[in-house]
Amino acid sequence: MVRILTDEEQQWLEQAIASAQRIVICGHVNPDGDAIGSTLALKWWLTGKGKQVTVAVPNYFPDFLHWMPGAKNILLYSKSPEEVKKAMQEADLMLLVDFNQTSRMNEMEEAVNASKAVRVLIDHHLDPDRSCASQVVSRPEMCAASEVVCHLLWQLGEWEHVTLDAAICLYAGMMCDTGAFTYNSSRSVIYECISHLLEKGVDKDRIYRNVFWTCSPQRIRLQGYMLYVKMQLMLPYHASIMTLTNKERKRFKCVNGDTEGIVNMPLQISRMRLSIFLSEDTEHPERIRVSLRSVDDFPCNEMSAQFFNGGGHRNASGGHLECSMEEAVEIAQKAIQAFATKLK
Ligand code: 5GP
Ligand code: MN
Repeated sequence: MVRILTDEEQQWLEQAIASAQRIVICGHVNPDGDAIGSTLALKWWLTGKGKQVTVAVPNYFPDFLHWMPGAKNILLYSKSPEEVKKAMQEADLMLLVDFNQTSRMNEMEEAVNASKAVRVLIDHHLDPDRSCASQVVSRPEMCAASEVVCHLLWQLGEWEHVTLDAAICLYAGMMCDTGAFTYNSSRSVIYECISHLLEKGVDKDRIYRNVFWTCSPQRIRLQGYMLYVKMQLMLPYHASIMTLTNKERKRFKCVNGDTEGIVNMPLQISRMRLSIFLSEDTEHPERIRVSLRSVDDFPCNEMSAQFFNGGGHRNASGGHLECSMEEAVEIAQKAIQAFATKLK
């Protein structure tokens, strides 16, 4: 396992946790499996130490994550802002997990900033904002915040207190951020973590099915429609663009999470290097959400930063555009052309 804190950092963190009674753990907007898994695992661990712990995320997370142990007690800021604010005001300590800057919490950021609680950032994204917390535990080489949490608990000598519920959350988090260990997952130490999680009794095949094989019929039909009708291939560039409007969402009776994973599908085509998915924001229809996925060394995050007001990881990034879908497609095409040498 990897040591991730210096001796001084470890001492500081142990002291911060020991002296805190009320702890709020925050996830990012549109929480994914790693956000839910890493925050819940920390909650299980800290609850076991007798702390009063709240997990708060800015908004709804997909149905295929609702099975995770503890998920039903997560507070959504979009639904219960007052409850979240109260928990944050009363908190001694706040853990910000799986994001690198407070703006990734959208509207919830304000409530976090209004709290006097000591903050610790635990993350695996590039370029963490070091001013947003008293301690920054940042490991961009790691596949998931859940992996960072594994090493952290190991280093703190707390592994024996990791329960099966916590282990399930950590495994699910790592699995979700790596596409079930098909990308960003070649560091051997990941499998050391997994080995230790399996020793806790994790049923990894069941976790896989819970996340990936619980589609509704309409979700499968939407996927078929996206591939058959909506996928625009730019084959000379080894790139693909897909679009989804809110009207189409309605037609397929989409619920939250139904579009998850669609962006990865064009990458199954031989030699494809980049997939761009443009979707109308469900809450702000004039905004286009952008998701990028790539293989090998193609830098999605650079393309997101240059063309889509966003960022992220090398092989998975995102952003947004304030324009019509037609204009967004044009921008995506220009982005692909601008990165032609890296795509071909
Ligand atoms: P997704 O396509 O799943 O929405 O996002 C993939 C990854 O891109 C996220 O894990 C996150 O790291 C990054 N990302 C998505 N949206 C944004 C954004 O608006 N700004 C930044 N900086 N990163 C984003
Ligand atoms: Mn993550």
